[in-house]
Amino acid sequence: MSAFQNVIGGEAVSAANASRNINPSNTNDVIGEFASGTKADADAAVAAAKAAFPAWSRTTPQERYDILKKASDEVLARKDELGRILSREEGKTLPEGIGEATRAGQILAFFAGETLRFGGESFPSVRPGVSVEITREPIGVVGMITPWNFPIAIPAWKIAPALAYGNTVVIKPAEIVPHSAWMLVDILNRAGLPKGVLNIVMGKGSVVGQAIIDNPDVTAISFTGSVNTGRRIAAACVAATPMKKVQLEMGGKNPLVVLDDADLKTAVECAVNGAFFSTGQRCTASSRFIVTDGIHDAFVAALTERLQGLVVDDALKAGTHIGPVVDQGQLDQDEKYIAIGRDEGAKLHWGGERLNRENPGFYLQPALFTGVANTMRIAREEIFGPVAGVTRVKGYDEALAIANDTEFGLSAGICTTSLKYSTHFKRNAEAGMVMVNLPTAGVDYHVPFGGRKGSSYGPREQGAYAREFYTTVKTSYTLA
Ligand code: ADP
Repeated sequence: MSAFQNVIGGEAVSAANASRNINPSNTNDVIGEFASGTKADADAAVAAAKAAFPAWSRTTPQERYDILKKASDEVLARKDELGRILSREEGKTLPEGIGEATRAGQILAFFAGETLRFGGESFPSVRPGVSVEITREPIGVVGMITPWNFPIAIPAWKIAPALAYGNTVVIKPAEIVPHSAWMLVDILNRAGLPKGVLNIVMGKGSVVGQAIIDNPDVTAISFTGSVNTGRRIAAACVAATPMKKVQLEMGGKNPLVVLDDADLKTAVECAVNGAFFSTGQRCTASSRFIVTDGIHDAFVAALTERLQGLVVDDALKAGTHIGPVVDQGQLDQDEKYIAIGRDEGAKLHWGGERLNRENPGFYLQPALFTGVANTMRIAREEIFGPVAGVTRVKGYDEALAIANDTEFGLSAGICTTSLKYSTHFKRNAEAGMVMVNLPTAGVDYHVPFGGRKGSSYGPREQGAYAREFYTTVKTSYTLA
């Protein structure tokens, strides 16, 4: 069995403990043994990143461009292999895995370009003879804590801008999917990063993650994960001395509004893709279908028919539409919420049962509830699985009110052929991202990603907006 070590200061560092990475499509398949680090490992990685920062922060844009571009080229050339690694450890289908690996390569290329596009501003002063210059500088050592649902894209969209703008990095990937992040770090290091610029320490959030947060030499934390962990991390960053900059991407309870005038086929595709592809394990997944009276029955019937044709099976098998749930804990959570939905009085219209396949895995038939009231727990709490519910409404105004009646605000979708309603929805949906006739999940990589209310905290990720988090502004005044 392959063993994967932490990479600290450019060296493979063996850890006292290891954790087994299991394939959720076949729990007999052990992918490898991955180091499970300690506080001492995290502190050593931070020390290496701190030591590497002065020289790295002074590299030219061309040096940073060359490394990011080279890494991008390798990721794209190996996208099939990386996609397979990803699908094997996370359980999303192979096309989804290859798509995500491709996305990681594209992100690296985008931020290679950002090293060259990145500039400052100059202003005339309000005082005679004085000029004012605004520049941006890297912030230092950035700690990154990432979740399991996008094992290579999320590390890529945090690491690439951090490096492009001259920062050094310690990343702790989610414990259950370390292989993809490890591969990305390996590719970047071999592309020519100086030792210590990019370090990976794998292991438990409560041990390695906590040690990164507690280390005073870490200037900033970028986190994607659950609301509870995010809230704790933000509080710790503010309480720290010195205080840390913090960026959080957390949950969603994303609505998809379907109006009477929607194209039914478009609405059903948006619903299936948004709620159930990637096994519903996306923070941008739609879990609340808010459907007006006139189209409700036709929408439910067409969606059910579409669900009946979906193949839930091994992520690596050709023809699979939906892979397994990521692990036993998540499966338990999905089943718990299906039971809660029934107890609350919603109707389990389709699916929701455990499935047996050739190999033992965490297979769950997608679940569709109808008769969901927006006060029910299945409409308010993030489930993070292939579970969605339909709420019937009288018209657009009620649909918008219910769409916004949530503590989250990541993505909001509407299916309509009306310019009036789509325009109104774009202006009034309380979400960071709005989708018209598109699934709530599925975004571009060159524009900002993030939400509002309980979904996100701090500056946006991705695109040129990423610089708000990964740089700090300096205003210089000169009398000449
Ligand atoms: P989920 O597993 O539902 O995505 P979590 O918030 O539990 O959400 O995990 C996201 C990331 O945060 C993972 O890398 C996890 O190891 C890490 N993490 C969990 N608990 C802590 C903690 N107390 N301190 C730091 N990191 C943590």
